[in-house]
Parts: sequence; C-alpha cells; structure tokens
Amino acid sequence: MSDDASFSLDDLHSGFGTRAVHAGQQPDPATGAVMTPIYQTSTYAQAAPGDHKGHEYSRVSNPTRTALEGNLAGLEGAKHGIAFSSGVAGIDAIMKSLRPGDHVVATDDLYGGTYRLLEQVFEPLDIHTTFVDMSDPDRVEAAFTENTKLLWVETPTNPLMRVVDIETLCEMAHGHDVEVAVDNTFASPYLQQPIALGADMVLHSATKYLGGHSDLILGAVCTDSDEWAEKLRFQVKSTGASPGPMDAFLTLRGTKTLHLRMERQCENARHLATMLDDHSKVGRVRYPGLPSHPGHELAKNQMSDFGGMISFELANDDMEKALTILDEVEVFTLAESLGGVESLIEHPASMTHASIPADEREKIGLSDSLIRLSVGVETIDNLEADLRRALDQV
Ligand SMILES: *Cc1c(COP(=O)(O)O)cnc(C)c1O
Repeated sequence: MSDDASFSLDDLHSGFGTRAVHAGQQPDPATGAVMTPIYQTSTYAQAAPGDHKGHEYSRVSNPTRTALEGNLAGLEGAKHGIAFSSGVAGIDAIMKSLRPGDHVVATDDLYGGTYRLLEQVFEPLDIHTTFVDMSDPDRVEAAFTENTKLLWVETPTNPLMRVVDIETLCEMAHGHDVEVAVDNTFASPYLQQPIALGADMVLHSATKYLGGHSDLILGAVCTDSDEWAEKLRFQVKSTGASPGPMDAFLTLRGTKTLHLRMERQCENARHLATMLDDHSKVGRVRYPGLPSHPGHELAKNQMSDFGGMISFELANDDMEKALTILDEVEVFTLAESLGGVESLIEHPASMTHASIPADEREKIGLSDSLIRLSVGVETIDNLEADLRRALDQV
C-alpha cells in the first residue's frame, strides 16, 4: 500500500471516528500511558531561563489542554484549536479583539448568554450589535454598516431551531470584508463543518455535545487563520480565560465517542419529533429533520443529520400546561444545558432565554409555551412513553 505514490499516512486518519479517537493525541512519551494524562501543574522546570519543553506556565499552555486543542482542530478540519474556560469565555475573547465603534451582526435567535454578553458587556464598551433573522440572507446584508466587522451565526438557532445558510452568508460577508464566526455547539463538528463552508472561526461550548456527559465547563474556538489564533491565544494568556487540565481531560474523553452518541441522539430525536408532530396536544414542532420544517432542505445539504435538539409549542400556547409537562416527566430531567447523554427538558422563556426581554422574545416568535428538549441516548421507548404520559396530564 505504501508503494502507491498517492497514499499518504493522513489517509489512515481521514475518517471522523478515527480523528475523534486519535487527533492531537499519542501515547505519553514518558510512560507509554495510552490516555493523555491530567497534567495537574501550574509551572514547568526550565534547564536554564527560557530552556523548556514547550510549556512555561499553565495559564498560557498545559499539555492536557494542548492535546485537546489538537483534537478539536482535527474534528473541525481547522489548523488551530484554542481552548477556553467556557463557551462564553471564547465568545468574549473574539469580541474583545474588536475595537470601540466596531459593529457586529448576530442571529436574532441565539444562546441567551451570547445575547447578554453582546448587550450588557460590549454595548456599553461601544461595540454594537444588530440582531437579525438570518433565514433570509438579504436581511443580513441590509443590516451591515461601514463599521461591521463580524457576523455571528448560530445554526440551528437556539431555541427556535431555524437553519441558517452558512455558505451563502460567508460569501456575502466576505464580499464586504466582514469575518464570520459560527457557533457550532448545537450541531457539533460531526454534523456540520463551518470552516469547510467558508467560516473564519467556529465557536464551541464543549460543555455540551463535545464533552457529552454534563460534567464539565469548557469552550473552544477553531480557525484556519494564524492571525486569529494568535489574537485568541493572546486573550487567553492576558485575561486568564484558561480551562483547567481536568476539564480538558474530560472533554478529550468525551470527543472520542462524539460520533456514537450523536448518531443515537439524532435517531432518538427524529423519533420523538415525529411522535410530537402527530400529537393532538402539541402545536408547532421545530425540528429540522421534519420535512415540514422550512429549513429542512438546507439542513439536508449543510448537515449530515439533524441533531438531538427539538423545540415544540403546545396547542393554544398555554404556558401553565407547559409548566405541568415539565413537572410530570420522569425520564427527562428539568435542567438548562444540552448535549449530554441524559435527556433534558426546559422552558426557554423562564430559563435559558429569560435574559432576553419579553417584547424581544415575542418579536422573534419565542412563545410562552415553548418547550426545548435535549434528547439523550436512553432507550427510545422509555423517552416516548415519558413524554406521552406527561402530555396526557394536560
Ligand atoms: C451553552 C452555550 C454557550 C455558552 O457556553 P458555556 O460553556 O456555557 O459558557 C454558547 N453557545 C451555545 C449555543 C450554547 O448552548
């Protein structure tokens, strides 16, 4: 095989599952340990000032974190991965690389913490954001000003599950010298690869699908740009947005099974979305895998499957009934967050998206009875029976 001139060792590592298990990692050179150790140290011995083995101080870099960064870059098909203490620390670092007077255009339906950061932290620092519904690229272009520097895309959106056309928006934005960051938390790199579609940066809350077990907080940015990588590493070093080695290790442990978990989560979510769509007590079901979803065709092109997140409204938009369902479920756990092996249920209007004012929520169509599910890997019959039983109570 190695006689074949076209053969490259990279071919052996080309599959997503192989990269998930191996990218960024090798057996520990000191001991042969197959798993990257948790390097629980703040500092590193130097033979003489400046003569070290690649690490000086763990705010700046740590070997467990470096392995994780290589792994995440491998999964996103990017040159660089930079890990942060949380997803919002990654967003914060990107925004801090802007200057007063700069303008951002962001999805109007997005993670509540991103909205809070842009509105309450960066707006007073004279970095302004316009929020637009990105299902129509023309509306995005109309929001650009001469100061627009960054387009912030989330897709599928949270919690309304709209699908945004990454490739079209990247082309349009680059025509205006605007860079594009995509929050890929909901899809994960297994289902969607924004860099290949033209994005300059990909943001992850690794707290969600990458970690996958609801036992850590960590964020990451992946990019092909040397300049952005340098700016973001400077931010980590200067502002201390560094994740600890234990959380880096747990994320690395999680990514090894990302493809397996995601496959089951997509399968379970597809089943539940279809069941809810046929249920008389349920109003609109928002899941890109349903052929009736307005973004279904786009999602089919842009993603390799439709993900594990579902939102649905109740018939008549009755909030009291929505709260009863949250109270009645037994297998689903009432909690914020998403992407873990366990199924979660939540009420965006009073939980994850409470930081978005009521009139804004109404404007974007985030209704009071909206329920969001993060579908886990439990046995599907039990998940279905749990939801059916809860719906019978209202
Ligand atoms: C959770 C989340 C974040 C923030 O990540 P943290 O790790 O909680 O800081 C950002 N974007 C999306 C889509 C999220 O779900």
